[in-house]
Amino acid sequence: MSTLTESALDPADAIYDFTLPAGEPWAHEIKRGQIFRIVDLEGNQAADTLFYNANDSADRYSAQDTIREQGALYLTTGTKLMSTRGNVLLTITADTCGRHDTLGGACACESNMVRYTIEKRHMHACRDSFLRGLQKARPSWGKRDITHNINFFMNVPVTPDGGLTFADGVSARGRYVEMRAEMDVLCLISNCPQLNNPCNAYNPTPVRLLIWE
Ligand SMILES: [Zn+2]
Repeated sequence: MSTLTESALDPADAIYDFTLPAGEPWAHEIKRGQIFRIVDLEGNQAADTLFYNANDSADRYSAQDTIREQGALYLTTGTKLMSTRGNVLLTITADTCGRHDTLGGACACESNMVRYTIEKRHMHACRDSFLRGLQKARPSWGKRDITHNINFFMNVPVTPDGGLTFADGVSARGRYVEMRAEMDVLCLISNCPQLNNPCNAYNPTPVRLLIWE
């Protein structure tokens, strides 16, 4: 079971406050020492997220290193988000949802076609949103920079015999996750546009993004 941890920070004091509509990308630098919060405004929205060393695309979030370092599969308060070079990118400092996935990956046109039907191939997917976000923030980066991601607010439990299940969400309206940047990072979010998965009730919704000094 997870322990829920609240934050004492007041949104009125934030230096950045933006509501990201469903289906849209967002790329933004978070400086070392700043606190970053993602709020699940309506509940069970998946915020597909990538983090990078702001100055080095090769030094990026690593699900494998993060899982191994903490000896646990789910992300929550206390989790250090590790990079491919063994650096701590950010540390999760508060979490009122209690569990975030880093095993399920991001939706893509190809996986939509395989998981749902071939008619879904044209539909908007997270991997395309990641590329759209990068076009603005880091025009020289591309598809090879899109690797394993975090799915904040998504519940993908592993069964006792090792199965991976996309379960109903454990998040709810207004729940949030908050983290402290341990170095200058680039955050890239695809606020998942998925219309075919019951985990968001087939209804993608906005998330609120806040940063404090
Ligand atoms: Zn998605």
